[in-house]
Amino acid sequence: MLQIEQFMCLSDNFGVLIHDPESGRTASVDAPEAAAIVDRLEAKGWTLTDIMTTHHHHDHVGGNLELKERFGCRITGPKGEADKIPGIDEAVGEGDVFSFGAFDFEVIETPGHTAGHIVYYSPKAGLLFAGDTLFSMGCGRLFERGAAEMWSGLSKLKALPAETMLYCGHEYTLANARFALSVDPDNQALQARSATVERLRSQGKPTLPMPLATEFKTNPFLRPDDPAIRAHLGMADASDEDVFAEIRKRKDNF
Ligand code: ZN
Ligand code: FE
Repeated sequence: MLQIEQFMCLSDNFGVLIHDPESGRTASVDAPEAAAIVDRLEAKGWTLTDIMTTHHHHDHVGGNLELKERFGCRITGPKGEADKIPGIDEAVGEGDVFSFGAFDFEVIETPGHTAGHIVYYSPKAGLLFAGDTLFSMGCGRLFERGAAEMWSGLSKLKALPAETMLYCGHEYTLANARFALSVDPDNQALQARSATVERLRSQGKPTLPMPLATEFKTNPFLRPDDPAIRAHLGMADASDEDVFAEIRKRKDNF
């Protein structure tokens, strides 16, 4: 059984450590900030053996070199932007597998937020590390690729088992919930989740991880096929991709 530690780094980044007691390996999902990660490793008595990088933004790779120097850990990251990942040892892309003890993580390419962005999915552990591609009730901004590519990446995540637990790069859930309600106001599952999120955040508690099942019911960026959202946007007959693009555009201006 994998052990998982989630904690805050920088202002709103999630740090995530996974530990496999059998092999003794410990991986950090991205490395937003060396100090916060070292603190958590020490508190758990774990030694960092791996970093699983999702994309090149500084708030995801800023701790790479310091952690590598300190632990000699091995850095796995996206093939499509390997030249921008400090200290990368192994570049991986669609269909590759990152083996972590008895757990395999499948690499899924999700270009959009960045050109080479990847996510890590373990069927056996039931975990998805989605970086800045998929957030709770949101998705990453389209900095390096367009809506069509982002939608095709998100479609792959939409096909994963509903019981998969989603971990992502940022605590953006409250702002995402408020936007989601603006395009899907009558969705009762969304209303309920929003109320929970408002309460959790007012108590300073994290809103993740979340099962994908909840995202399938509440995240408008995974629901461009939903008749109520389409009706709300006046796009009853548009393609999923076009509805997704419209939702993304509205979020940018929200
Ligand atoms: Zn990013
Ligand atoms: Fe980020």
